[in-house]
Amino acid sequence: MIVYVLGSTGSIQGREASNTSLAVTSAGRTLLIDVSGSPIQALKRSNIDPLSVDVLLLTHAHIDHLYALPSLIHQMWLMGRTADLTIVANKETIEVAQSLCALFSLAEKRGIFAVNWQVAEEGRAAVTVGKMAITLFSVPHGIPTLGCTLEEGDEKVVYLADCKSSGSYPPCAWKADLLIHEAGGVAEEEERLMKSGHSSARQAAEAALLLEAQRLVLVHLPCDEGEQGRLLSEASALFGATELPRLFEPYQR
Ligand SMILES: [Zn+2]
Ligand SMILES: [Zn+2]
Repeated sequence: MIVYVLGSTGSIQGREASNTSLAVTSAGRTLLIDVSGSPIQALKRSNIDPLSVDVLLLTHAHIDHLYALPSLIHQMWLMGRTADLTIVANKETIEVAQSLCALFSLAEKRGIFAVNWQVAEEGRAAVTVGKMAITLFSVPHGIPTLGCTLEEGDEKVVYLADCKSSGSYPPCAWKADLLIHEAGGVAEEEERLMKSGHSSARQAAEAALLLEAQRLVLVHLPCDEGEQGRLLSEASALFGATELPRLFEPYQR
């Protein structure tokens, strides 16, 4: 299982980084988590074959997490994809994603591959990509939102997508080798962050401590790099093994 960060900012993109999305490969197959920025370009920059994407997980229906979906599907079609693409999301997100695809009449493209829309019922579903098992769970974010645990052998990656700090996590979120957690600001901004369903760097570090993670990578960051440095300092003071993301580079144990 190899994780790649394809984008790392919150709603506003930076000079180098686009909105947060991830790719995770296992046995030559790929899981894409959210679809923003230029997804095909980002996969290529990570040396991942875009046609190896078997499953797209959409965490929630906020614009910064799925606006690039029509372009992803359109480019895969032009690249000659024939295999089905599975898109997993909650019911509310699937409705928005299907409307986006309908806007561009993608289903009417000649010979286009099939999309299997898979509803994550009651916030839980199990999917497999390569040798990797994916478990979904709900996180608090104002609208229905999914987090996920990825497991291959004894290796575990946990992604806490857009979410505010709750102190309450499912059993599968414990003891990750790598915890990827959102952080939209620092502790003094927590009131504002909580209102919009987000976490501070301090709260992300607290989650890493509580969940006994080995390593913490912060994502969904403010676009200003100086501000990102403040977030890193704040989280590192609590949880030493904290990092800012390195885009398009492999994370593996
Ligand atoms: Zn977001
Ligand atoms: Zn969001």
